[in-house]
Amino acid sequence: MTARSIRNLLIVLGDQLDPGAALFRNLDPEGVEIFMAEVREESTHVFSSKTRIAFFLSAMRHFAEGIRQRGFRITYIRLDDPLNTGTLEGELARYLDRVSPDRVLVTAPGEHRVLMVLRKLAAERDLALEIVPDEHFLTRVSDFRQHASGRRQLRLEYWYREVRSRFGILMEDGRPLGDRWNFDQDNRKSFGKRGPPSLVSPRAFPPDGLTREVLNLVEHQFKDHPGSLEAFDWPVTPEDARLALHDFVQCRLPVFGAFQDAMWLGEPWLFHARISAAMNLKLLSVREVVEACENAFRDGQVPLSSAEGFIRQIVGWREYVRGVYWTSMPGYLDQNGLGHAHALPEVYWTGNSELSCLREAVSQTLKLGYAHHIQRLMVLGLHALLVGVRPFEVHRWFLAVFIDAVEWVEAPNVMGMSQYADSGRMASKPYVASGRYIQKMSNYCAHCRFDPGSALGEKACPITTLYWEFLSRHRDLLKENPRMSLSLTHLERFDADTLAQIHQKADIYRSSISL
Ligand code: FAD
Repeated sequence: MTARSIRNLLIVLGDQLDPGAALFRNLDPEGVEIFMAEVREESTHVFSSKTRIAFFLSAMRHFAEGIRQRGFRITYIRLDDPLNTGTLEGELARYLDRVSPDRVLVTAPGEHRVLMVLRKLAAERDLALEIVPDEHFLTRVSDFRQHASGRRQLRLEYWYREVRSRFGILMEDGRPLGDRWNFDQDNRKSFGKRGPPSLVSPRAFPPDGLTREVLNLVEHQFKDHPGSLEAFDWPVTPEDARLALHDFVQCRLPVFGAFQDAMWLGEPWLFHARISAAMNLKLLSVREVVEACENAFRDGQVPLSSAEGFIRQIVGWREYVRGVYWTSMPGYLDQNGLGHAHALPEVYWTGNSELSCLREAVSQTLKLGYAHHIQRLMVLGLHALLVGVRPFEVHRWFLAVFIDAVEWVEAPNVMGMSQYADSGRMASKPYVASGRYIQKMSNYCAHCRFDPGSALGEKACPITTLYWEFLSRHRDLLKENPRMSLSLTHLERFDADTLAQIHQKADIYRSSISL
């Protein structure tokens, strides 16, 4: 059989779902064929949650339908196609046996593994693969590389200021608005005993016919996978993602800044945006998000501290972690600077824990595919770090269960920020705290049988015990870091006997969760 000729073959990956992307620019639909494939491997290379799988598949199917309506020809391989080989490589190979493209174009993938698959296939088949830069970020990886060159350690703050100045975000006459770059000091409030002030539920996006079809497929094909589809109400199209953004800006952004670090039992969304997944699949552009926030501030609807706090997450952290990922791969995932060797405890797949904070954060994650930043960093990540779990296993869990998990953003947050596996390339110190921090920032401890103030005794909080044990275990390494000196000074108040008991109690906890 002779292969059919195509002028331009566009490969559209599951996290590149913007019909306005550079990939499509200046191309006459007549000379273009698009290739998309739903492949099992993307849901099994880590044990993906049903929520995450359904989100990707539904957004992909909506995208394909939209692009078809715009007159593009598309070959779309469905997951349940009986001939589906289950891998991107296999499906592309099968397709390329049938067509002969003059050019093959793809937007730069968000994952190093996928880039390698495409490059390998192109080399084997002698294809001229053109990687189109991903314009869904304000900066390019080369900007970050330049920023990082010559710096022994990377710090968000310098990068953030550079990006804001360059793009004139919240700037006036070359100075940051309010004459401050950073409103973090105003932005770390807890809710106090009375709880969150007047919460408005985020706008929901009940599944349409296409999404319901996907939910059934996922329920059927990935029965044993973690998570639940009962509450699935995520925006899966650019139009709905835009509505979600505006709902956030209007109803929650005004209070976002003050309470961005706070947690509350039974309240997963609080004042958060719920837009990371849509942004990561490119249903929403970063420019649109930043513009909406800045305009809300300039129109007097949102205080500067909230607008700055949110914009810092997007143009600071989000662009920064992408730079860290692409300038550190391959090899970033193998790092284990603290030499941690414990297996990921079963509780991460069940939520069965006596610790109220861990139970809440895991259960919520499995139910919704979502936990906010501080739940991820200071409960889920903190617990794994203090237990001493192998960072690669922590990474695999985070990549599997969150609806917004794509490796370029997940890996630096987990390996670098949360597990300190890169020995401080990304974070200036390990993010460790005792149960007291969780008590201050939430009401979890009020519903827990443990006392966050105690490291020993019947009611000792495992997080607190493990915290002191962590400092003691890694004391030699940590004392090189000036930002840890206060914590290490506090450690000195424990005599040798007390420390030995803390170590013993920490080990008992580790064994108890390893069963
Ligand atoms: P909000 O809390 O309202 O924050 C605003 C937006 O800023 C987010 O939508 C997101 O786009 C961006 N943002 C905030 N913090 C970060 C950050 N540290 N890195 C990158 N972007 C950020 N984010 C992901 O998108 N995917 C992940 O897989 C992911 N894994 C994480 C793992 C750990 C251990 C930690 C500590 C953070 C992780 N984050 C990840 C960052 C952050 O937790 C999520 O972006 C945020 O919780 C998403 O919810 P939201 O849209 O309601 O965001």
